[in-house]
Amino acid sequence: MENCIFCKIIRGEIPSWKVYEDEHTLAFLDINPVARYHTIVIPKTHHENIFDIPPAVFSHVCTTVKHLADLYQEKLGLTDLQIRHNAGANAQQDVFHLHMHIVPRSADDGIDILHIPHPEWRETFDDLLKKLL
Ligand code: 5GP
Ligand code: ZN
Repeated sequence: MENCIFCKIIRGEIPSWKVYEDEHTLAFLDINPVARYHTIVIPKTHHENIFDIPPAVFSHVCTTVKHLADLYQEKLGLTDLQIRHNAGANAQQDVFHLHMHIVPRSADDGIDILHIPHPEWRETFDDLLKKLL
């Protein structure tokens, strides 16, 4: 993909802070980190997001995420992290080349992701499940 920023990183046309590379995937530090070692993991082939990536390629990405979680645990003593994939503009995806965020977390890091529970929606669950049949 000519103008994809992550494809440009793969081709070496723009610099990145590489932390890991193998045949199928590349991982580098996020240019606008929300935490120390905030890392982006991408496949070397262009897919927009979870909806169009072949399962085998997604599996390679997940394997690299696991490898880096273990590496950061071993080398940095990391015990807490969040893994995030944004798929689609309404899910706050900005770069349309599939990527996983690895966001290390620690006590008092100032990050507080807001989740608003709706227990009253439980009464709709039966109807929701019917749509999956
Ligand atoms: P999204 O919102 O699509 O899930 O996340 C895209 C991420 O890519 C953002 O966190 C952003 O900081 C990061 N990013 C965008 N452009 C570049 C770049 O040129 N280099 C690096 N290292 N990260 C980038
Ligand atoms: Zn791309």
